[in-house]
Amino acid sequence: MRLLVVEDDPDLNRQLAMGLEDAGYVVDKAFDGEEALYLGENEPYDAVVLDLGLPEIDGVTVLERWRRGGKTFPVLILTARDRWSEKVAGFDAGADDYLTKPFHTEELLARLRALVRRAAGHVTSTIELGDLSVDTKGARAFLDGVPIKLTSHEFRILSYLSHHAERVISRSELTEHIYDQDFDRDSNTIEVFIGRLRKKIGTDRILTVRGLGYRLVNPAATAREG
Ligand code: CA
Repeated sequence: MRLLVVEDDPDLNRQLAMGLEDAGYVVDKAFDGEEALYLGENEPYDAVVLDLGLPEIDGVTVLERWRRGGKTFPVLILTARDRWSEKVAGFDAGADDYLTKPFHTEELLARLRALVRRAAGHVTSTIELGDLSVDTKGARAFLDGVPIKLTSHEFRILSYLSHHAERVISRSELTEHIYDQDFDRDSNTIEVFIGRLRKKIGTDRILTVRGLGYRLVNPAATAREG
């Protein structure tokens, strides 16, 4: 899952990005409204953390322009304490949630997990696919209740595929959601990661859809469908 953090305070931005990376996300950083607007318009984020008081273009305007341009990613706004009118303007512009500064990283993480999974149509923090379960809170996965040893890249791929289970995900879509903007991307490495994941979770769970991409399935349910 790939996030954009928009915050002009460099220390807070760095701190936020570090907390989110520790939680298993990949993070792009923007420090002013112009940079934020550009990145949001051009990169496929799974969620955005948006400070409202920004240089160049203010956060509410950035959000309005994303929404007008058809961008539907969930947006959590950061507001100063007691600025209720700012929150109202933020929600009217298309925000999905807010946090008042200062806040605890744990609360930000919980709210983002909820936004990301709701956007993908899931109601709980653990995604169950037969005997495979993906704990988006603990950044862990289990097979028959037994923890699976995964590298951070493998977990990111499994997390993205399980949020979008049963959907065909192209290699380029996966690449865009598991690496940050500055990463030297090579979509061929995706194949290697998929191969390793299959060894760990079973070869019948990640199907290759020739020419299109990959599909994570629940083999038990697929067998029932006949
Ligand atoms: Ca600010």
